[in-house]
Amino acid sequence: MIKLERVPKPQELTDEIVKELIHRYKQDGSNVWNKNYIKRDLLGMSNNKCSYCECLVNEESKYMEVEHFYPKKDYPDLVVEWENLLPSCKRCNGNKLDYDPKSEPIINPCDTNPKEHLGMRLYRLLGKDDIGNNTIDILYLNEMDRLVLPRFLIGNQVQESLEDILNKIKMYQQGVLQGTRNRNIIVNGFKNLLRQGLPEKEYSATVSTVLLNDQKYSEGKDNLIQLGFWDDELNSLEISLFSIKLDTL
Ligand SMILES: [Zn+2]
Repeated sequence: MIKLERVPKPQELTDEIVKELIHRYKQDGSNVWNKNYIKRDLLGMSNNKCSYCECLVNEESKYMEVEHFYPKKDYPDLVVEWENLLPSCKRCNGNKLDYDPKSEPIINPCDTNPKEHLGMRLYRLLGKDDIGNNTIDILYLNEMDRLVLPRFLIGNQVQESLEDILNKIKMYQQGVLQGTRNRNIIVNGFKNLLRQGLPEKEYSATVSTVLLNDQKYSEGKDNLIQLGFWDDELNSLEISLFSIKLDTL
């Protein structure tokens, strides 16, 4: 889970429309939030990811649902309140069901930075406090097949790529690899690795955490600095990943 910035509500969702939709929901319970313009702007806000588990929701098997942070059943006046809507995968929405965060709070990624409450150990999320633990339990964020395994697979792939680049860096330092072409392969390889942890990428919190906490990453970075290969783009990519990386607990 990563921090999301709430985008302005869709133009189509005027005060008048909101009133009309609330009225209709109260009358017949119909799914008045199920509008293309609502889904479009929610998906834009989260880069097509579930705001809780970070899986991509534009894949067929994980189609996106509009999640009501405060459940519509208990708060019908918030049924199309923009600040109450989050893009969610079917799995997370199904786990949260009608849970009311006012009873025991859970993380709303638009309001709170999840890294304040969540850490990671061996691809499992761990709560740093009651809000973190409650979020993990309510949303079942350590489901083996659907979440822990995909996190492991992407983390393992990141570590393999990191080892590959580190070997190339060593060969460059030894003079086995030389020249601009090889320099560019190394620098671009390191950049591409960091790009996998950008907020728009699937499981970016996992990738950022795995990459930046790896001893080999620090080694690679130090060597790139020594070679004079570390540049502003690498620096700004690293800053982006630091802002979402979780503490390893
Ligand atoms: Zn999800």
